[in-house]
Amino acid sequence: MISENIEKLIELQKIDNEIFEKLEEVKSFDKKEKELNKKIAEKEKEIKETKNDLKKIQLDKKEKELEIKSYEETVKELNKKLDNVKTNKEYEALLIEIANTKKKISELEDELLLLMEKEDDILKKEKILEEELKKIKEEITNKIEEERKKTEELKKEIELKEAERKKIAEEAPVELFQLYEKIRKTKKDNKAIAKVEDGICGGCHMSLPTYIVEMVKKKEKIVQCENCSRILY
Ligand SMILES: [Zn+2]
Repeated sequence: MISENIEKLIELQKIDNEIFEKLEEVKSFDKKEKELNKKIAEKEKEIKETKNDLKKIQLDKKEKELEIKSYEETVKELNKKLDNVKTNKEYEALLIEIANTKKKISELEDELLLLMEKEDDILKKEKILEEELKKIKEEITNKIEEERKKTEELKKEIELKEAERKKIAEEAPVELFQLYEKIRKTKKDNKAIAKVEDGICGGCHMSLPTYIVEMVKKKEKIVQCENCSRILY
């Protein structure tokens, strides 16, 4: 009987829809996991960049400190020389040199101060980022764990549905089942059958010719939509 066979297909399609939805959910988990891990990677990258900035500033600082030290040595030596100068001219020249060196030291100290302020800011930023990373990691690990559990459940449910499906499929005529499968596999929505409502195919939403609608109503043979090939009922 055609109507019995159609009933089987409807039953089969119902299970296939469920399996399809669950599989989509499983697929979406992989995508979700990747996106969540990307968030961690982004934060880690930000921290790495901050650490690099910090290193650069600390090197600059060290350089300035060494420069200051060296100028301070120069001032000391110039002061010593002051005791041994023979002429006023030499004396004046030394005083000028000392004043110039001290001015350089003072400039370097200002620069050093700015670097120290920058260093402080970056250290603060780094601390905040590290805390954010810790929080994000915790949240994401929990979320992934939760999703993973859900996915495992889904996979078990899919297995059960597959078994159920196999049983129903075996009850349908082989040729009809093969036709059903052939159509289903070409459809993005995984649907091989379509209900006719108000003369319209429920699969592709095209208006069906009257003779097709009549044939479907008679239930004497399997009728397919001329547009989307789905089996009509
Ligand atoms: Zn159609």
